[in-house]
Amino acid sequence: EVRVRFAPSPTGPLHIGGARSALFNYLLARKYNGKMIVRIEDTDLERSSRESEENILEALRWLGIEWDEGIDKGGPHGPYRQSERQDLYQKYVTRLLEQGQAYYCYCTEEELAAQREELLARGEMPRYMGECRDLTPAEREKLEKEGRKPAIRFRVPENRKIIVDDLVRGEVVFESNGIGDFIIVKSDGIPTYNFAVVVDDAEMNITHVIRGEEHLSNTPRQLLLFEALGLPVPRYAHISLILGKDRSKMSKRHGATSVIQYKEKGYLPEALVNFLALLGWAPEGEEEIFDLSELIEHFSLERVAKNPAIFDLDKLNWLNGYYIRRSSVERITDLAIPFLQEKGYLPSELSSEQYEWVKRVVGALQSYLSYVGEITDYIGLFFGEEVNLEDEEARKILQEEQVPRVIEHFRKKLAEQKELTPERVKRMLKELTKELKLGGRKVFMPIRVALTGKTKGPELHDIIPILGVELIQKRLDNSIK
Ligand code: GLU
Repeated sequence: EVRVRFAPSPTGPLHIGGARSALFNYLLARKYNGKMIVRIEDTDLERSSRESEENILEALRWLGIEWDEGIDKGGPHGPYRQSERQDLYQKYVTRLLEQGQAYYCYCTEEELAAQREELLARGEMPRYMGECRDLTPAEREKLEKEGRKPAIRFRVPENRKIIVDDLVRGEVVFESNGIGDFIIVKSDGIPTYNFAVVVDDAEMNITHVIRGEEHLSNTPRQLLLFEALGLPVPRYAHISLILGKDRSKMSKRHGATSVIQYKEKGYLPEALVNFLALLGWAPEGEEEIFDLSELIEHFSLERVAKNPAIFDLDKLNWLNGYYIRRSSVERITDLAIPFLQEKGYLPSELSSEQYEWVKRVVGALQSYLSYVGEITDYIGLFFGEEVNLEDEEARKILQEEQVPRVIEHFRKKLAEQKELTPERVKRMLKELTKELKLGGRKVFMPIRVALTGKTKGPELHDIIPILGVELIQKRLDNSIK
């Protein structure tokens, strides 16, 4: 049975990179009818918080990434929070100490810093050189008496090649001599990431570890621990870093980094999932649109790329716009209302007429939105009698010689309409060009500018029915003097 895990450290909100790891794990689990575990890695007590835990789980739920075992779900291998698994870690530490594969280290921060300096000065890679490796009981007792609290280090075997057989990167070879004895339990008794992760991956019967490339250098340490403890080793797949379009490390400059920020801007979860899947995974054909069930069907680790994935916000916006256009107007309306309320365009309680009005507005704007929050940039179009000409281009258009004729005829035809629907308006505008014997641009541009002040925007036949005759006449009075 395939058993995978997503193991976030709850030291902040769920980021794009974490969400992608979670997604790839989830896809593999579902593809092979396996199990997905969410394990909270909160060994850094100071930086971990319940608030971050909640944010991470909420973001996963929003994306539609489900799990089978976790802090909220329980399961046969719980608890699923590392801070609640101390006894278990203790058992394994004791085993390593008894086997002589771990030892107490009494070096202070200052001493370690000095050792590092010395190595650097000699032009060597800073690492722990084993000062406390072979302390006698008497030496230990003396150090204890000084009041020093020991950490516990793993005794890294010398002259070993450690091969990570990675499902994405192939064989990656590390030299054990470059590693140095590393801490597995800190002086406060808390296990370190590298140790806890090994115990938990084994105890939870994890078969595949899919995680970010930044953890690749931890993997040889973890392999040595598996070996020392005689535990079964999972398969590894390290997925590439995510870079910005300028190829520097993904940061706020390239777009929001946390998943919830995308939710808050009005991105759709299926668009973000689709986008995340393409960050490093390449589908076989040309098709780029995939919902979750299609991703489960098509996903494979063989098609995950080694080279860095590029975070392209324009692409996300394009995908999201695609999903917005394909959504029902009701769904987008419900998502749009809070944005409009927040900007004061709508009251906190909507009457059914107001709701219908928003629905028509959304219907007109839906195909222009990259994300739902963008609606507040367009909504001004439907408010107020004033028309502010956007730029010089707009001003020039209203000065074209045919404009008085166009507007006069437009007013007349508008007044003749019994009912304004997009279809009727479309027909009316067509008649207008015929009757005036003018090209479309010479007719529609001045009307657009006179009504909205802008040279671009939603279709006139969508805007006009929403504005209504009265408001249109007032705007024309204001813009055509
Ligand atoms: N807790 C680690 C992190 O948040 C995950 C490590 C792993 O997946 O092994 O980066």
